[in-house]
Amino acid sequence: MAKPKPPVEKNETIELTFEDLTHEGDGVGKVNGYPLFVPYGLPGEKALVKVIKVKKNFGFGKLLEVQESSPERVEPPCDVFYQCGGCQLQHMSYDMQLEMKQKQVKDAMRKIGHLEHVPVHPVKGMKDPWRYRNKVSMPVGERDGRLVAGFYQKRSHNIIDMDTCVVQEESNDRMVEAVRRIAERHGIRAYDEKNNRGVLRHIMVRTGKNTQDVMVVLVTRTKNLPNQEELIDEIRDAYPSVKSIVQNVNYKRTNVILGPETNVLWGEEYIYDTIGDIKFAISAKSFYQINPTQTKTLYDQALEYAALTGSEQVIDAYCGIGTISLFLAQQAKKVYGVEVVPEAVADAKENAKLNRIDNAEFYVGQAEKIMPWWKSQGLAPDVIVVDPPRKGCDEALLQSMLDMQPERIVYVSCNPSTLARDLRVLEDGGYETKEIQPVDMFPQTSHVEAVTWLEKKK
Ligand code: SAH
Repeated sequence: MAKPKPPVEKNETIELTFEDLTHEGDGVGKVNGYPLFVPYGLPGEKALVKVIKVKKNFGFGKLLEVQESSPERVEPPCDVFYQCGGCQLQHMSYDMQLEMKQKQVKDAMRKIGHLEHVPVHPVKGMKDPWRYRNKVSMPVGERDGRLVAGFYQKRSHNIIDMDTCVVQEESNDRMVEAVRRIAERHGIRAYDEKNNRGVLRHIMVRTGKNTQDVMVVLVTRTKNLPNQEELIDEIRDAYPSVKSIVQNVNYKRTNVILGPETNVLWGEEYIYDTIGDIKFAISAKSFYQINPTQTKTLYDQALEYAALTGSEQVIDAYCGIGTISLFLAQQAKKVYGVEVVPEAVADAKENAKLNRIDNAEFYVGQAEKIMPWWKSQGLAPDVIVVDPPRKGCDEALLQSMLDMQPERIVYVSCNPSTLARDLRVLEDGGYETKEIQPVDMFPQTSHVEAVTWLEKKK
């Protein structure tokens, strides 16, 4: 039997009541059971919606007017929120954002992991969920002969001319504006994506939250940077807490921000930041968590679930620059970190030295290959911590964990769907998921981070 035709037509304006939210935070309303997804709609609201796309089983709409507003709707503090692709949830109260994220984890556990009995705690949020980002990379363009620096518009490469970004550290914000102004005065041309011409591609700024050290990275197409000396002097004058000015050369026609060559133009190669008692050296290319306040919360949670007493051997898989490993090392006998990016492992080793931590070892390689090798060498960890990218753990890595039979596994995840999938495998292999603690690393966006505690079944 043919499926009934969708009950709405493209470009039609309808009245819709929202019942739910998608994982991206869009409102979901139904017309005779046919769901429409509408950005910025909130559950309980009645609204006028223009239908913009009609598919067989669902459609998309644009919010024209809210007729009955939710008490959770708030005025977004950012002027360009509705154009920018950076944040998705500024129209939603922070309490509602946290509830939505908890529900997202619960739903994934139920639907994907068949783990409805596992407690998912309320999300640990921020006291002040603004200006938390320690790093910004703003593309630079030109408009009417002037330089503009701002984020891309949703689903496009148009740069929004913006004064401030309310989730950035204030120093990042002001620094970008200062560099834009100085570069413009010296006639530096913006990179032109279409014709692969021009000079300045991105202005990147990173601030050490707890040190207030600032690093400026000028990403350029050419190695030649006109008026380089004046540029440096004026940046230093505009912002005395600048510790490092770096040029990164990226001559390729690509979406990847940083290129292969990095030159220190002035000052240090590294800036420093601390998380808890541990100090980190961060270079232009280092991966470093972007929300340092919540990183502490996240790592403390991982540490609590690891329940170390000082006698344990611990593996930290997908260890990046060793941030979690060094936290764990303070309370373990020995920590083994593995990470695929060689520069990150070099940073991890440096950071261990910097903090005089001598019970952490780091290896370059794919975790799914190194773990079986470790096992063959007789390594028998008491605890394994994993923090994989969004696609989750490799199957071979899950199998290695099961082969190694640690007492405890701590799984840090930035994607509830792959987390739920992997937990199912671990459950079937003899582990019990005890509890899950989500942490809000990215307020105002729809991203969710969660820490999970598993124990070997007795
Ligand atoms: N735990 C770190 C980094 C987590 S991000 C922190 O909190 O800062 C995930 C990391 O996994 C990235 O550094 C990425 O380079 C690394 N990675 C991706 N695939 C990998 C693989 N197959 N084996 C080892 N590491 C991998």
